[in-house]
Amino acid sequence: MRNDEDGGLALIERLDRLLPQTQCGQCGYPGCRPYAEAMSRSEAGVDHCPPGGDAGARALAHALGVPARPYDRSRGAHKPPQVAVVVEADCIGCTKCIQACPVDAIIGGAKHMHVVIEPLCTGCELCLPACPVDCIVLLPATAVEATA
Ligand code: SF4
Ligand code: SF4
Ligand code: SF4
Repeated sequence: MRNDEDGGLALIERLDRLLPQTQCGQCGYPGCRPYAEAMSRSEAGVDHCPPGGDAGARALAHALGVPARPYDRSRGAHKPPQVAVVVEADCIGCTKCIQACPVDAIIGGAKHMHVVIEPLCTGCELCLPACPVDCIVLLPATAVEATA
């Protein structure tokens, strides 16, 4: 029993490490680890993660010893790395983006301008619909690095 549990945890860990850690929820689970757990229980297929794309789905299939298949395009597009940036002039400091961010990449107090800590941002897009004044934009990660 103990060995089964250890084996299950090792598989979950292995699957989780193959996932991009974007924490976007497009797989239908509230983050990468819950999706890894569902796959380890054979409750979810390997094709649920758009950020991982076809290469990710292939790696998951290999780890699970099941046939490879392309990722499910109906769940979203496979995009190049992107990061969120707050348009400072428009931010009203409502803090809604902080509550929406799954990886605590946004800082700022109530009624003060908020900023995204770029190395932490996974580009998951969850803060965009949360912002009541539409002042968060996504930029290609390479463009942000170039201006830093
Ligand atoms: S779709 Fe992929 S990156 Fe997004 S939460 Fe699910 S496993 Fe993680
Ligand atoms: S700042 Fe926005 S895009 Fe970046 S991780 Fe947080 S919620 Fe996702
Ligand atoms: S949700 Fe938008 S307006 Fe509110 S603090 Fe975040 S960036 Fe500023």
